[in-house]
Amino acid sequence: MRLDHVDAGRSINLALSARGLKALDRVGLKEDMEAFCIPMKGRMIHPAGGDSFHSPYSGRPEDFINSISRGGLNIALLNKAEEYDNLKIHFNQGCQSVDLETATATFKDYETGEIQEVKADIVIGTDGAGSAVRKSMMAKTTTLLFNYSQHFLRHGYKELSILPTADGGWQIEKNALHIWPRGEFMIIALPNLDGSFTVTMFHPFGGENGFDALDTEEKVRAFFEKEFPELLPYMPHYVREYFENPVGTLGTIKCYPWQAYGKALIMGDAAHAIVPFYGQGMNASFEDVRVFDDVLNEHEGEDWETIFTKFQDLRAENAEAIAELAMDNFTEMQDRVDDEDFKKKRKLEMQLEQQFPEYYSKYSLVTFKPDIPYAEAMRKGRAQDDLLLEIVEENENPDLAAVMERVKSL
Ligand SMILES: Cc1cc2nc3c(=O)[nH]c(=O)nc-3n(C[C@H](O)[C@H](O)[C@H](O)COP(=O)(O)OP(=O)(O)OC[C@H]3O[C@@H](n4cnc5c(N)ncnc54)[C@H](O)[C@@H]3O)c2cc1C
Repeated sequence: MRLDHVDAGRSINLALSARGLKALDRVGLKEDMEAFCIPMKGRMIHPAGGDSFHSPYSGRPEDFINSISRGGLNIALLNKAEEYDNLKIHFNQGCQSVDLETATATFKDYETGEIQEVKADIVIGTDGAGSAVRKSMMAKTTTLLFNYSQHFLRHGYKELSILPTADGGWQIEKNALHIWPRGEFMIIALPNLDGSFTVTMFHPFGGENGFDALDTEEKVRAFFEKEFPELLPYMPHYVREYFENPVGTLGTIKCYPWQAYGKALIMGDAAHAIVPFYGQGMNASFEDVRVFDDVLNEHEGEDWETIFTKFQDLRAENAEAIAELAMDNFTEMQDRVDDEDFKKKRKLEMQLEQQFPEYYSKYSLVTFKPDIPYAEAMRKGRAQDDLLLEIVEENENPDLAAVMERVKSL
């Protein structure tokens, strides 16, 4: 990872927020990582044919999300891990399967092809959405009562880029997450430290203008000139990138249990892959590690099955919640961010956050309040959303103290 280029299929940068930072703090990396972050204080919305506008993430100036390089973060974590004398990293070893009852994992060396079995006390699988450890659990469906679901969106994603200015600056607002919402599809852009932006198309595979249909230079040009004309001056190379870069799939994976026989555990995307629209997949995975650390501390000396079970019970409901919220945000970002009622509700939320320290919108509960579990943030946030939408439909400028009373009565 430290020698190779980050693979083009995964997002080059991603949004790091309070839950991720809290976990990084636990391992002494928060400050180091903040130096590599670009604060994004809100969404910069670019409606079709309309004027761009800024929609802050919070009424509190200290609450923002951060754009960070995936490669940079991975490298910092590897360097940190190597500081531990009792930890050894073996690269290019693909786990093929795990014998769960004996915690014996079979690895294939990607360079030599050699197969090796390794027996351990426990196996913790953090091997991502395609997890081999999870697949071994699936092979024990009836004994583990293993539930599994996988839901692919009919949308995929492709990365493009906006280049830096000649002197290494940013061609568009640096401190924002840019969105070009277009209903059925959208483009977003996150800033990088070198002045570039990583631009991501979230786009249907099928249909008249889907990825599958945009298969010639002429069609791609005609599509971008019609839908995103304002972006083109910033990305003169977009047609080349469109054909060079792969299309990634997006989906939600849910499963339960996350542990087997007190010998194996999965966490991160291996246990709960989600769509990226809340910017929480990595944050949730880092939060898994922090909660696991809490459980280890609380149950020191107890057996692994107790520890693993406690951990999965604390996390499963919250993983479900963030999966749902991420799907909700898919619709919101594509279709609602420039909707009038939605804008009125956001304005009211900002005013409440500015005036009442105890008020947090749904977005803020999820993104800036790491002490509140996702499931609770979802319940509270949804109730608040319904109430505020009802209020702004009646009166665009309601009395804030009266609104706050109604929020409290929820
Ligand atoms: C387009 C996109 C944008 C995203 N944006 C954001 C964002 O803005 N904010 C956010 O919080 N999250 C975001 N995410 C989600 C985030 O990338 C994931 O949630 C996060 O990477 C999960 O971390 P993980 O360590 O569980 O899995 P991964 O990052 O997938 O890491 C798994 C690791 O295991 C290795 N591995 C896989 N299989 C095996 C095997 N069989 N044997 C050995 N090793 C194996 C892989 O090589 C990899 O190193 C985004 C995801 C996508 C696709």
